[in-house]
Amino acid sequence: MRLVLLGPPGAGKGTQATLLSEKLGIPHVSTGDLFRANIGQQTPLGVEAKKYLDAGDLVPSTLTVDMVRDRLAEPDATGGFILDGFPRSVDQADSLAGILEDMGTTLDAVVSFVIDEDVVVERMLARGREDDKEDVIRNRMKVYRDETAPLLEYYSGHGRSGQAGGRSGLVVTVDAVGEVEDVNTKVIDAIQGDS
Ligand code: AMP
Repeated sequence: MRLVLLGPPGAGKGTQATLLSEKLGIPHVSTGDLFRANIGQQTPLGVEAKKYLDAGDLVPSTLTVDMVRDRLAEPDATGGFILDGFPRSVDQADSLAGILEDMGTTLDAVVSFVIDEDVVVERMLARGREDDKEDVIRNRMKVYRDETAPLLEYYSGHGRSGQAGGRSGLVVTVDAVGEVEDVNTKVIDAIQGDS
């Protein structure tokens, strides 16, 4: 199963990806986690990426896409993966299409997490990550609206379209408000519902 998780920052994509990874036996590939690991190890990529993460801006695609390509080429990702935080722009989605084409594969579904902006701001302030300060959160929400939200339409027009059950193209929609396990059950039902 090859999945993309889409949704605003703070929607719980990382938590859901971790659970899905355990249940489906495929790796969780989080570009945010990969950047944070590089920052922690002070690699050249980490040093370059840090200023963007600190500001809540997107790291340039030139750095991001190669990192994803390398990660998806690792042996554990040959049977499937859960992408969390990538793609984040139409540009990156086009790059992903190229990577998958080179791998001779396609996405199975794009899971769209639906949640109110007020709820995610509250969640993120409670989480307290280094880039979870109010002005940075606000910028990440703006970047999401401007750059990432258009992907819903992008993927709605791709893949199997016109099927019933909340699927439009590749996109399946899941209400992200609720207990972690309940949301996870909804995700699994949604991706298995009409595959
Ligand atoms: P996340 O952990 O997904 O919330 O990502 C944290 C930060 O990492 C973002 O605010 C961006 O600065 C950077 N980042 C993560 N994924 C991407 C991506 N696909 N493209 C550009 N920047 C990214």
